[in-house]
Amino acid sequence: MTNHPSRGDRPVEPLVFEKHVAGAYGVDFPPLDVPETPVPHRVAGSGVPLPSIGQHDVMAHYTHLSDRNFSVDGNFYPLGSCTMKHNPRINEWAASLPGFSCLHPLQDEDCIQGALRLLYETRTMLEEISGLHEVSLQPAAGAHGEFTALKVIRAFFTDHGQPQRTVVLAPDTAHGTNPASCTMCGASVKQVRTIDGHTDLEHLQEVIAEVGPENVAAFMITNPSTAGLFDPSIKEMAEIVHGAGAKVYLDGANMNALLGRVKPGDFGADAMHYNTHKTFSTPHGGGGPGSGPIAVTEELAPYLPVPQVMMADDGSFYLDRDREKSIGKVRSFFGQFGVLVRCWTYISACGPEGLRHVAETAVLNANYLAVRLQEVYDMPYFAPEKGAFCAHEFVSVPQTLLDKGVTLIDIAKRMIDYGVHPPTMHWPIHDCLMVEPTETESKHALDQFVDVMLQIANEIDQEIACVKNAPLVSDIARADEVGAARKPVLVWND
Ligand SMILES: *Cc1c(COP(=O)(O)O)cnc(C)c1O
Repeated sequence: MTNHPSRGDRPVEPLVFEKHVAGAYGVDFPPLDVPETPVPHRVAGSGVPLPSIGQHDVMAHYTHLSDRNFSVDGNFYPLGSCTMKHNPRINEWAASLPGFSCLHPLQDEDCIQGALRLLYETRTMLEEISGLHEVSLQPAAGAHGEFTALKVIRAFFTDHGQPQRTVVLAPDTAHGTNPASCTMCGASVKQVRTIDGHTDLEHLQEVIAEVGPENVAAFMITNPSTAGLFDPSIKEMAEIVHGAGAKVYLDGANMNALLGRVKPGDFGADAMHYNTHKTFSTPHGGGGPGSGPIAVTEELAPYLPVPQVMMADDGSFYLDRDREKSIGKVRSFFGQFGVLVRCWTYISACGPEGLRHVAETAVLNANYLAVRLQEVYDMPYFAPEKGAFCAHEFVSVPQTLLDKGVTLIDIAKRMIDYGVHPPTMHWPIHDCLMVEPTETESKHALDQFVDVMLQIANEIDQEIACVKNAPLVSDIARADEVGAARKPVLVWND
């Protein structure tokens, strides 16, 4: 860490089109053994100008490009709230077993007993972890889980003669998917104020009174909150919400801090979703695959989506498609099967003790980093001397550094130079760094991260230009992010 990175001279990788060599080819097709039939012009058009390129050149091209990617396999990825943790390779082994990966979703149930058993066991393991009555594995991501559970809650109220319960309350720090899912579900959202990262109970009561308790469907809460704090007044909140006749919805995207320690059902949640791709380790991001099972109480269970995987009295497994009060289907076939195999594998490999250890280590790692960084990186919510430890993540608002003339983006871009993915920024506070190390980082990796962060702080004092102009060693210099988002150039023109 003593040598300052500077822009290297790695050659620019040409576009694959620029590697075109007339007459080159990468595959050999077997000789034609059927009569040649021309493809009609209206189907084939005038052809696509694809490059001709040899097999090895194509491999080298994409390998070079992949080398330039940031990846959870190659770099520290402390993206708060996203839980970018190591994906143990046994997960991949299990998911690629032909008995799982080659299944057809329309196969008869008697020849997919193993797959159904895996789904059933995943269901029951997630039920146990949640402390709730029944899990549906159908939703395909966290946001989809929120949407599905809200549908279930609304179906419950409609069935109980209270269709007017269409207001959902959420703290002002809620994840963006929370209000979006409410809107998709035809509910309206009312914000509840937070103070120092915790929900303001008085304001919660005021908002309920304002909209009328009889109109409230649910209160959506993330705990530990997006500020990385476990809210100890969660039981009181649940009492207030239940007192209004409404349901408590837990956004359980980040269960890392709770696994095996606290069951959401015990602190008053009526429904929750998991993000198995976060908590139970599947590589995600960039639109990668996810899975968002939901868990609900017994009174909400009849409304869960179909099909539900069940175990018969003789120990065989089947899909129950026949639930009278179900909200219906929310996903084709069994949900995100491949991600659920990884989830089963991760939970089974850890076991109950291992899962508790995951939670302890995730929380310990976050607190270790926060303690080591707090002198230089201001942390509005972290005050261990007052007992305000963080959970699995912490938020820094590095005002002292920003006051020295850098922006948060400058700091984030400099982190790239040191091989660290910038953390989540601008949420839940406008200018902040939300750091989630996860339990899979070693002490060595955490110490390296601290070194990087202190080095950057040092550079701000000593050689501010290398922070202001960062990134200096990445393949591209600082991009015009707004331009890239608003006017992306996605087509290659000769
Ligand atoms: C990631 C996340 C979500 C959304 O999950 P997706 O799988 O991306 O839809 C919702 N809430 C919180 C707190 C999250 O961190």
